[in-house]
Amino acid sequence: MTRPIKATIDLDALRHNHAVVRRSAPNSKIWSVVKANAYGHGDLRVVNALADLTDGFALLEVASAIRLREAGITLPILLFEGIFSPDEVPLLAKYDLHTVIHSEAQLGWLSWLSNHAPLNTLNGFIKLNTGMNRLGFTADQLPLVSQQLHTICPTASLGLMAHFAEADAPNGGAGSVPSQLHTFEAMKQQWRDLGHVADAVSLANSAAILVHPETHQDWVRPGIMLYGASPFADRSAAELDLQPVMTLCSEIISVQTLAAGQRVGYGGTFVADKPMRIGTVACGYADGYPRHAPTGTPIAVAGKETRTLGRVSMDMLTCDLSDIPEARLGSPVTLWGRGAGGTIDADAVAKSAGTISYELFCALAPRVPVFC
Ligand SMILES: *Cc1c(COP(=O)(O)O)cnc(C)c1O
Repeated sequence: MTRPIKATIDLDALRHNHAVVRRSAPNSKIWSVVKANAYGHGDLRVVNALADLTDGFALLEVASAIRLREAGITLPILLFEGIFSPDEVPLLAKYDLHTVIHSEAQLGWLSWLSNHAPLNTLNGFIKLNTGMNRLGFTADQLPLVSQQLHTICPTASLGLMAHFAEADAPNGGAGSVPSQLHTFEAMKQQWRDLGHVADAVSLANSAAILVHPETHQDWVRPGIMLYGASPFADRSAAELDLQPVMTLCSEIISVQTLAAGQRVGYGGTFVADKPMRIGTVACGYADGYPRHAPTGTPIAVAGKETRTLGRVSMDMLTCDLSDIPEARLGSPVTLWGRGAGGTIDADAVAKSAGTISYELFCALAPRVPVFC
């Protein structure tokens, strides 16, 4: 018998969640975000499942974009951080990629490559720094950006893009979204005054799609909501009509009976206060389960929700079977998602471990077999 852990990817749920995006932002086109191997879900399977529904795909690496092109994807593909070196410039035209331009270094590479002959095409977005302070140009850089673009590609078709720091906060992060929007609008006007037509505007991530309709504009950029988790700390995915796409499940591989006072796992951090039955699950941090998940993290066994006990080890974790007398060797376990073991909200596991579901999904380890 093989080790029982596996992940399953529910492509119907993915397509349902895409429909929620469509419904939430009916007048916008959708860049479905498939960076980080589609948040751990497998980028090719996600892309194939969404190809007839969405308007484009966004990711980071040119190599990932080329893989999608070679798999037959003809929809627009956007590089969220643009090129990382000058040798990537010719690949933009070769593979018909949209790029973000966020730095003077990138403009330098583009103008170096276009020195002899200006580029025929350049599609994508100029990234504006409206307060996130990671990537993008500030207002004082725009005149230089404009001037350089003119020599790089006079016919460039570039929209304007920005990213919100606190779209997920209750009440919009105490004015953070309105303030970033205000900055964006002023920079957009400046860009127009420099003689550009902003072809397209893109601002909204999942949180903004769900609660800030004023940010939807031409293109929205959903990530986490496609994968059926909530971008908000205080609203569940179910409340948002999102369905979990990834299920991580396994089985009980050992049952132990503890006497009061016995301890469990490395460091003995859990101590039984009464006689109890516990189960050992074939799932550990080397599978991507968060090691920081403390005693009490939700887990489901044989259709019932229970709690983890003690420390998560590399290949195993333990759970409380006190109220699940029918649980035995081979009983199904759901770590998150919807499986034979029961239903567990990935956001609840993440919260218990002091992180977000994004990190859980992205951390799914290559050793876990994935099924559709
Ligand atoms: C990852 C990313 C997104 C998607 O964010 P979610 O919170 O997962 O919806 C959108 N825009 C940019 C620029 C990103 O890097």
